[in-house]
Amino acid sequence: MEEMRAVSVTPGVSGSARLTVHPRPVPAAGEALVRVLATGVCGTDREILAGHTGTAPTGAERLIIGHECLGEVVTGDAEGTFPPGTLVAPMVRRPDGCPACRAGRWDLCQWGNYTERGIRGAHGFMAEWYTESPDYLVPLPPELRAAGMLVEPAAVVAKALSEVTQVRSRIPWPATRALVLGGGSIGLLATLLLRHQGLEVHTLDLAAADSLKARLVEASGARYVAGRGVPVNEVAEQAGNLDIVVEATGAPGMAFAAMEATGIGGVAVLLGVPGAAAPREVDAAWLTRRLVEHNAAVVGSINAARLHFDAALTGLLAVQRRWPGVLERMITGRYPLAQFEDAIRGGSDTVKSVVEP
Ligand SMILES: [Zn+2]
Repeated sequence: MEEMRAVSVTPGVSGSARLTVHPRPVPAAGEALVRVLATGVCGTDREILAGHTGTAPTGAERLIIGHECLGEVVTGDAEGTFPPGTLVAPMVRRPDGCPACRAGRWDLCQWGNYTERGIRGAHGFMAEWYTESPDYLVPLPPELRAAGMLVEPAAVVAKALSEVTQVRSRIPWPATRALVLGGGSIGLLATLLLRHQGLEVHTLDLAAADSLKARLVEASGARYVAGRGVPVNEVAEQAGNLDIVVEATGAPGMAFAAMEATGIGGVAVLLGVPGAAAPREVDAAWLTRRLVEHNAAVVGSINAARLHFDAALTGLLAVQRRWPGVLERMITGRYPLAQFEDAIRGGSDTVKSVVEP
């Protein structure tokens, strides 16, 4: 049996990540065999490594992590939809048969029995190879060879922006101004996609005004706010009426800052998932009054279905053509598989670290 190397954890056990050897996967009937080119690291991976989340596949003790992946088909699928050499990004969630899942909207799963590759009950992509049904592969054009692992986080953002558009369709003027909280990969992708839609965008992060994050935000014509010690409501007041506020920090309390910042007819979309934290006080009366008086809406959003991957692909290609190099510059570190710990650790100006087998 041929072998491959992968990064795996014992779910629930902090510090259990190791480079491990597994059988090289053999494609089942109809599946494609994919060689991994690069796998991105994100906050969910760090939560899994800390033992806070993650489930191994049934019958397995360890879980291969990684869910933001760029790969190249080596053995095509049976129907020939993905011939050898095709660049692909895999989707993350696998449906469970509930009505939403059956309708192709597994991002809105009702039963909660879905699996997620690299996260929940299914092996991920921080490995040398994987196999997959063409139902869960997205073909990428060669232009995305350097940054194709951003398709998955971009799909999460594309879904969020689609939800915002739907919620906002009740408001009789177009959205013109947005605030993005967080300059990580989700915040930056939201900044770029909103700028591409023509909005004035203000993006706030803790990184300094001369940081890479600031330069990437400004490259798209958005305004960067070095937010250390700067209250979000001050930024919001200076900006003017905010039609869209994207919460992409996951820091406890920032969801409330996002709600407070929404303007008249505004939508706050919450993407960050805070870990456990001490309870904090909120001025409930003031916040409620503000949301009611502003006709504001709050939307939570997670995961993405195929239509969002398709939208992400269109959006990323447009961003790439409009601001050449900006997506590649988001990849701040490329590490071989054996140095996965360096990739996961990251630094203060890390946007996206990737592991390249
Ligand atoms: Zn479902």
